[in-house]
Amino acid sequence: METLLFDAKKEGSVEAVANILKNGGLAAIPTETVYGLAANAFDEKACENIFKAKGRPGDNPLIVHISDMSMLKDIAAEFPEGARLLAEKFWPGPLTMIMKKSEKIPDVTSANLPSVAVRFPAHPVARAIIEAAGIPLAAPSANLSGSPSPTSFEHCVHDLMGRVDAIIDGGASSVGVESTIISFVGEKTVLLRPGYITLEQLRETLGEVEISHAVLEKLEEGEKVLSPGMKYKHYAPKAQVTLIKASSEDYIKFVNEHAKEGIFALCFDEEAEKLSVSTVTYGSEFSDAEQAEHIFDALRIIDESGAEKVFAHSPKASGIGLAVYNRLIRAAGFDIIEL
Ligand code: AMP
Ligand code: MG
Repeated sequence: METLLFDAKKEGSVEAVANILKNGGLAAIPTETVYGLAANAFDEKACENIFKAKGRPGDNPLIVHISDMSMLKDIAAEFPEGARLLAEKFWPGPLTMIMKKSEKIPDVTSANLPSVAVRFPAHPVARAIIEAAGIPLAAPSANLSGSPSPTSFEHCVHDLMGRVDAIIDGGASSVGVESTIISFVGEKTVLLRPGYITLEQLRETLGEVEISHAVLEKLEEGEKVLSPGMKYKHYAPKAQVTLIKASSEDYIKFVNEHAKEGIFALCFDEEAEKLSVSTVTYGSEFSDAEQAEHIFDALRIIDESGAEKVFAHSPKASGIGLAVYNRLIRAAGFDIIEL
């Protein structure tokens, strides 16, 4: 398939991409979290094509993106009070909420679940495309299943050229990790995936919020899970990654003791010059927002470097750092050393 490339800064490009989507096509579009692979959320065939283009397992549901609160009534069967409170505070923004689904949403979009995931993105290009298309867009991350989520146009071109109708460049994603996901469909309100909107912020607004055990732990074989995406290793780089939980000093000592060819350090900016192996940095030790912004790009750089083994320095698992930690334990296949 021919993939048309667009630049969001050029006149007419948003409208052209919106037209492709209206006509049942697939387009990779920028959002503030990561790039999304979008299709008309009401179009069964188009949503099926998302799964095909990504090589995504059919039981991993898609997030539906809106550009106006009035779109919600055709997507969700109800709008719980807690969701209303969070929407007032954090929408538009990097927060996805799970609600009971409306009959208008095809089963393929929600992977046969009775619920649907909804997000109102803040990115001006994403919003303009949804608005011009006039339909909500189902959009998982625009990577091939199993590779790191794309945070730039170049990442999407690398993964999806020839597999989608269009890719539009809207610059690098500023958040860098996928949206926070919170569920309102069970008895309790549960954080299913940590992101830029933190657990601490959610609790400030709602009081009690549980954290799904899949956020921090490996699932048992065949275990049922609220967020199917958590089942998959995902974000898996080619090299074998070990996550090191340690102070900077101990991490540097450990890596230098194990230095040999093919070994890489995925470390903080401040550590690189003290390490005697090849390094890829993912932001300052002191900024969880920077770490989130750079982590997926860093994992892609490592993939291209030919690294065989990677010692990744663990971020602090609080604030936005919880999101970075959650992605890294998966990239490491839960291989963790605590010093
Ligand atoms: P991605 O857009 O690639 O980040 O993937 C979407 C994520 O949203 C996956 O991890 C799904 O498991 C999660 N998700 C989407 N819809 C639902 C739903 N109805 N219930 C629970 N999780 C969902
Ligand atoms: Mg994804």
